[in-house]
Amino acid sequence: MTYYSLNNQTGPVDFKEATILGQAPDKGLYFPSVIPQHPYQSIESLKGISAEEIGFQVMKPYVDPAIPDEELRKIIRETLSFNIPLVRINENTFSLELYHGPTLAFKDVGARFMSRCLGYFSREKKEKIIVLVATSGDTGGAVADGFYGVDGVDVVILYPSGKVSPVQELQLTTFGGNIHALEVQGDFDACQKIVKQAFADTHLKEQLFLTSANSINVARWLPQQMYYFLALQQWQEKEPPVICVPSGNFGNICAGMLAWKAGLPVKHFIAACNANDVVTEYLLTGDYRSATAIATLSNAMDVGDPSNFVRILNIFQQSHPELAKMMSSYSISDLETEHTIQKVYQDHQYLLDPHGAVGYAAFEKYLGQYPGSKGIVLETAHPVKFPASVEKILGRSLDYPPQVEKIRHKEKKSTLIQANYQQVKDFLLSTYLHG
Ligand SMILES: *Cc1c(COP(=O)(O)O)cnc(C)c1O
Repeated sequence: MTYYSLNNQTGPVDFKEATILGQAPDKGLYFPSVIPQHPYQSIESLKGISAEEIGFQVMKPYVDPAIPDEELRKIIRETLSFNIPLVRINENTFSLELYHGPTLAFKDVGARFMSRCLGYFSREKKEKIIVLVATSGDTGGAVADGFYGVDGVDVVILYPSGKVSPVQELQLTTFGGNIHALEVQGDFDACQKIVKQAFADTHLKEQLFLTSANSINVARWLPQQMYYFLALQQWQEKEPPVICVPSGNFGNICAGMLAWKAGLPVKHFIAACNANDVVTEYLLTGDYRSATAIATLSNAMDVGDPSNFVRILNIFQQSHPELAKMMSSYSISDLETEHTIQKVYQDHQYLLDPHGAVGYAAFEKYLGQYPGSKGIVLETAHPVKFPASVEKILGRSLDYPPQVEKIRHKEKKSTLIQANYQQVKDFLLSTYLHG
């Protein structure tokens, strides 16, 4: 497979180069030059096939020939080493629980796949690869876990001090080894700005090999297709499902749409958004107006200018009417999110996290317009990651799953740093040039 930049200013690269670079030199996002049809064109065709085999068939055309088959199978086996169950909540609504991985959020799948690919590619590289990533909470933990112990790769995470949940902070700061947490005295935007400055700093990049691990990277974006196949494999209803995806940067839903474009039977997609409603508005008006992010309860979706939306438009050849046929979007307020958590727990004894609750509420709105539809809501994080809102609503504390028990008493190791680019640059140079 070759990948071209959606800005069309640079020549095609293979999977290896796209993974190592992250973003094209012309600042565009990489997109596969063809969308290969997979063998799973019906729900029946998925029955009785192992997750590893499905993952291999789906990912192979995207990776070929950069990673040999046996290595790719191993990467997929390690990526999908936890359950992804489809659980019925009520007559119409199912939850695809994507939170059983090591950091309790769906980003584990993409981060584990990408880390292992980069680990494989770094074997031929003399210099260390440094993954630099800013996080509002979930990305950093998944990337840290995915890359922990991977030879030839170090991870430097910038997170906003005091603005991530306690569980998230443990996941960022208790690894040690090749994982370094920089606790930035500023907000997420400040962290992201520093990371962008680093990538634009030619002096720094001459001395260190830097790459990023956000969903712009094809090795993090594409493997997310796999769980749409695993969802359909568990689907027992007659009609293909409506799939509702809590969306922020739109990488996850875009992966689902790619799987559909390549033949997976899906009736319709719903982009569930919080108050950050650029895409909801785009579908209504045909106008795309980026905005500054608004803080909400579902903070992993607080994105004002979703980077993967250009990939979605590309799948639909920039046609608003074609996209609108296949995708709806609803914007859900924090109040609705809280009510949904409460109501679904009372009525169905099913506990949603704030992101899944946005998804559930969006699907309810869709059901209001299209009664009788049956759909899957992607539950993207474990409720325990967001205790502040969930425990308040339930009026009791939550039990910790083993993934949290394991790190609960570990010592936090982070470097406190001002929201200042020069300080971060000094840290990087002193750690990796002379360290
Ligand atoms: C990252 C994240 C999202 C948003 O996913 P995108 O691919 O950025 O749209 C939703 N929910 C949770 C819990 C997340 O961590």
